[in-house]
Amino acid sequence: MAQQDPALSVVVPMYNEESVLPLLAERLRAALDGLTEPYEVVAVDDGSTDATAAGLSGLRQRWPELRVIRLRRNGGHQAALIAGLLRARGRYVVSIDADLQDPPEIISEMLALARAENLDIVYGVRGDRSSDTAFKRLTAAAYYRLMRQLVGKQVPAQAGDFRLLSRAAIEALRDLPERSPVLRLVVPWLGFPSGEVRFLRAERAAGRTKYPLSRMLALAAESVTSFSAAPLRVATWLGLAGVAVCGLLVISVIVAFASGRTVTGWPSILVAVLFLGAVQLLCLGLLGEYVARIYTAVQARPAYFIASDSDPGDTADPGGA
Ligand code: UDP
Ligand code: MG
Repeated sequence: MAQQDPALSVVVPMYNEESVLPLLAERLRAALDGLTEPYEVVAVDDGSTDATAAGLSGLRQRWPELRVIRLRRNGGHQAALIAGLLRARGRYVVSIDADLQDPPEIISEMLALARAENLDIVYGVRGDRSSDTAFKRLTAAAYYRLMRQLVGKQVPAQAGDFRLLSRAAIEALRDLPERSPVLRLVVPWLGFPSGEVRFLRAERAAGRTKYPLSRMLALAAESVTSFSAAPLRVATWLGLAGVAVCGLLVISVIVAFASGRTVTGWPSILVAVLFLGAVQLLCLGLLGEYVARIYTAVQARPAYFIASDSDPGDTADPGGA
């Protein structure tokens, strides 16, 4: 490799972020130039269709530390993040959102903590989410509670994708066979020593969120199915419960016959049939979620395709095409 590996890489996935780009560059550069250490900023353009690409090449003229990786198509936040993480060269790698909701000024704190305590992972934890909508806060709280149950207590609540990873942690991620792991679960699961830095999550500096409800639901479903087979057992428990209820019903019917009464009522039959039908469909749906995961895993399609890298060096492309 021509030049020395930088002390720090900052990975910024971005999709149609032309409106925040100038602001982001200004604040990120100020924060990183203050570190007085060699660094690189890895901007991952996740197939943007606006002027993000042009904006990035403009910035590169004036900012030699900026490296631009362009993906051929939009693969989503996680895919873009992984593309950047696996190609970053820094001794430490920080991932941060482009919209300045995560303050770049915290990066130096993360780095200092990692070095002082010899940590491989430092999470940026949102101290306060009052800038998010009530709906986002509610769904986020439910998501983290569920994830801590599934993956374990080591999943920090309210930690998104603003975090620092050491080279060792990045290599551990690279070694995972999964093409597109849910990073905020897989990273704590790796089991490295970790710490937290608290910060206040700001509002999006400009532009609109790229996470509509449908994507949030997809992330939640993927998070659950990638870490737990427990929902599959729901079918077993429902089945057992059904058997118990049926047993009671049979007894009541026998008692009724014995005492010479006839058992009446089509509503009870209808309810039983509908209830069983619903339960069966539910279980089938759950099963389907897992079959879908197996399907994608077997296809083993790359999570992203690199269209260009302004500073490819000698990195062989690992996770992608
Ligand atoms: N992002 C991306 N590809 C996508 C969607 C989003 O790279 O398909 C980036 C986006 O540009 C931003 C980050 O992921 O830097 C987080 O997205 P956003 O701020 O829209 O999500 P929110 O903060 O609303 O959850
Ligand atoms: Mg955001």
